[in-house]
Amino acid sequence: MTHDAAAAPPGDDAAHGAAPDRTAQDPATRDGGAQQGAHRIDAHCHLWRLARGDYGWLTGEDSGDALAPIRRDFELADLAAVTRRAGIHRAVAVQAAPTVEETYFLLRFARETPLVAGVVGWADLSAPDAAATIAALAADPALKGLRPMLQDLPEDDWITRRPTAAALAAMKAAALRFDALVMPRHLAPLLRFLTAHPDLPAIIDHAAKPALAAPPGDPRHALWRAGMAALGRETGARVKLSGLLTEMPPVTSAAEAAALLRPLLADLLEWFGPSRIVWGSDWPVLTLAAPYALWDETTTLLLADLSPDNRAAIQGANAARFYGLEDAP
Ligand SMILES: [Zn+2]
Repeated sequence: MTHDAAAAPPGDDAAHGAAPDRTAQDPATRDGGAQQGAHRIDAHCHLWRLARGDYGWLTGEDSGDALAPIRRDFELADLAAVTRRAGIHRAVAVQAAPTVEETYFLLRFARETPLVAGVVGWADLSAPDAAATIAALAADPALKGLRPMLQDLPEDDWITRRPTAAALAAMKAAALRFDALVMPRHLAPLLRFLTAHPDLPAIIDHAAKPALAAPPGDPRHALWRAGMAALGRETGARVKLSGLLTEMPPVTSAAEAAALLRPLLADLLEWFGPSRIVWGSDWPVLTLAAPYALWDETTTLLLADLSPDNRAAIQGANAARFYGLEDAP
């Protein structure tokens, strides 16, 4: 079991906020630039097989034409091809269906290949038997965390109201992390939840999907800024630099995308610091906006001004530490 690594006191980070970066002291990143390629990790991708039948958001009546390009199977071989081309040999597979069956489906890939270095699965945290379900799932050391599909749930404050105390205790007992799939409207409840559970290591997927395509007066901008600044300052939460191209107006080049994202990265660096930002792709959802290589190139440009240590941390070492991933084979 490697859960202990990330269970290390989230409150410690909270206390430091976005203050001086300690990444340089982290042995995992001390070798920085020279080893950078070897340590890269995609902290957020999906694998799915439609015939399994539980991907309602993707195949249901309301799923819409916009998702048509990804309404097909995405298998291990597909993931291996795109990551290998980017020189990435480890990835975290994240749940895409609200069923424990899908989590077991993903855990099988982790047994098959070192490419799937960890799994973020799903369990109904509001179910009366949640604690037993979570303990059973967590018996597999490849399970690193759980992700309720908060963005699809009818209550924006579901996370503060519905999970049972036993479910949260079971997550903590198994040293599981919590992946927050949220939009700006969920950030205030998320802050209340994480403040109440400082011993539950958390990561905010896709930087909480800022409304990058919306006009300046859109109320989501203020919600996002206030919410993320507070989460950075007052909690130990990490944030994923992932899934952002699908939230933006269409771009034609990595340079254009990087220019649009530069202010956002500056905000995340100020609020979370380089030791709490974790790179991921959100492949294959990413491909609705751009190929894997374009996102990789975009973020390479975006991170170019950082020190080699901080770049290596964001592109892999932070993910390894947070999710407690085994060393690269
Ligand atoms: Zn995703």
